[in-house]
Amino acid sequence: MRTGSYIDGRWEHPRGERQVRNVDPADTSVVLAEFPAATPADVARAVEGARRAQAAWADVPPPERGRVLWRATEVARRRVDELALALSREEGKHLREARGEVLKGIAVLEFNAGEGFRIQGRTLPSETKDVFTYTIRRPLGVVGMITPWNFPWAIPVWKAAPALVAGNAIVMKPSEFTPWTASLMVEVFEEAGLPPGLLQLVVGYGDDVGQAIVDHPDVAAVSFTGSTATGLGVYARAARRGAKVTCEMGGKNAVVALADADVDALVPALLNGAFGSTGQRCTATSRLLVDRSIAGRVVEALVEGARALKVGPGTDPAAQMGPIVNPAQLERVLGYLELGKREAKLCAGGGRPAGLERGLFVEPTVFADVPPDARIFREEIFGPVLSVCPIDGLEEGIARANAVEYGLTSSIYTRDLQAAMRFVERVETGMVHVNEPTVGGEAQLPFGGMKKTSVGEREMSTDGLYFFTEQKTVFVNFAGGVARNFVR
Ligand code: NDP
Repeated sequence: MRTGSYIDGRWEHPRGERQVRNVDPADTSVVLAEFPAATPADVARAVEGARRAQAAWADVPPPERGRVLWRATEVARRRVDELALALSREEGKHLREARGEVLKGIAVLEFNAGEGFRIQGRTLPSETKDVFTYTIRRPLGVVGMITPWNFPWAIPVWKAAPALVAGNAIVMKPSEFTPWTASLMVEVFEEAGLPPGLLQLVVGYGDDVGQAIVDHPDVAAVSFTGSTATGLGVYARAARRGAKVTCEMGGKNAVVALADADVDALVPALLNGAFGSTGQRCTATSRLLVDRSIAGRVVEALVEGARALKVGPGTDPAAQMGPIVNPAQLERVLGYLELGKREAKLCAGGGRPAGLERGLFVEPTVFADVPPDARIFREEIFGPVLSVCPIDGLEEGIARANAVEYGLTSSIYTRDLQAAMRFVERVETGMVHVNEPTVGGEAQLPFGGMKKTSVGEREMSTDGLYFFTEQKTVFVNFAGGVARNFVR
């Protein structure tokens, strides 16, 4: 495993006083790696190196830049098992989920490789005769990225791929809980032939290295994923110096199940949405708003499903749910479980599973009869906890779904097309599903939310790509002479 930072195409061991300690969440006695953290001085060197490398990269035709991404898909596909294993060991998700995450990142690379041929401007008529007006897109320069631990391969890739194909250089701070996967991502790009200096990795802490990226005057844009509290702070700091920002932050995603929902389809979708990746997905289902007429049946099936899930180390082929990522998150989730027991009715789980004390495991948990003003109903828990609240029909479902400060994703289960379309229009989330789980995103589709979930441009799709570009409007006067035709 590479330890340390990657600056100007070389792996180095930073000399910071703080340590990065990468611990296996399935067995906390296993230290996967330990090394000194990067410092703000390392960020300064990384930005300087990125600036130099970017000047040449901006001149490389975008299709050629895209070919580097295409080669990265080939490398990543060849190294898929290695990537999945690293991801599972340090983040905790089980190997099938880890592999799925790697494949998702590969799809993002594929999409952006093709975008190299399609970075679009627009041609529009001028009001003036003999003037040709059009737009072009140019890279921003050096862009900063701050990423979390929950998708340590997919999120860095979905930020890096569009930034690179658009002609930028990157300074990235991954979560210090998942530096192994981040280093493998760098290796994939390196093996794919990305010129040195374009992807700089500084492995350190958010409150110094992260902040140094956000504050650096040569970092033209910052792309952040993490908590709402941190993200809004990043947004405010970057905005003060006029940098572009996109932040993808918290979620409290709801499924609304109407009386006519297909319960046989609904229950597996809820088990997947709530407990997949141990609930540590920004798109996880954390609330079920279920019509009173079917609530009893649904909760019963959910409880049975939750209790049957096999919790265990991500590398155990039989495991269906891995551990929580780190002790602080475990404490946070356990705190919400205790709170939930006071606020609602515990139906399944509610604590740590027996026999797995060496790791940071919790049980898949279902709370029923959750009042809409309960904290477990409103606050992001980021763990395998589903809160169920009964409703009477669509209108109440929409109102309750919207009664939180977040707005990432949502889903409705119904056979009634009118109800589904009303929900799509009125639910306050950036992504809406009909008859499928709240989770997931696709490379070609915009990803992001409303309210306190997101600020700035959507990620992925061409929107995500164009965030990393500056648009120029061009006026070419071919009338000849001293602008004889000038009417503006
Ligand atoms: P944070 O928001 O604290 O961290 C996300 C990233 O930001 C990390 O790389 C972190 O570094 C960095 N960071 C922290 N402080 C600063 C700062 N002042 N300036 C710049 N960068 C900074 O999330 P956590 O990982 O601590 O998780 C806490 C909660 O966040 C979770 O319980 C969950 O609710 C939410 N979350 C949401 C995610 C999503 O996908 N929407 C993803 C992950 C978390 P460092 O780790 O060194 O602090």
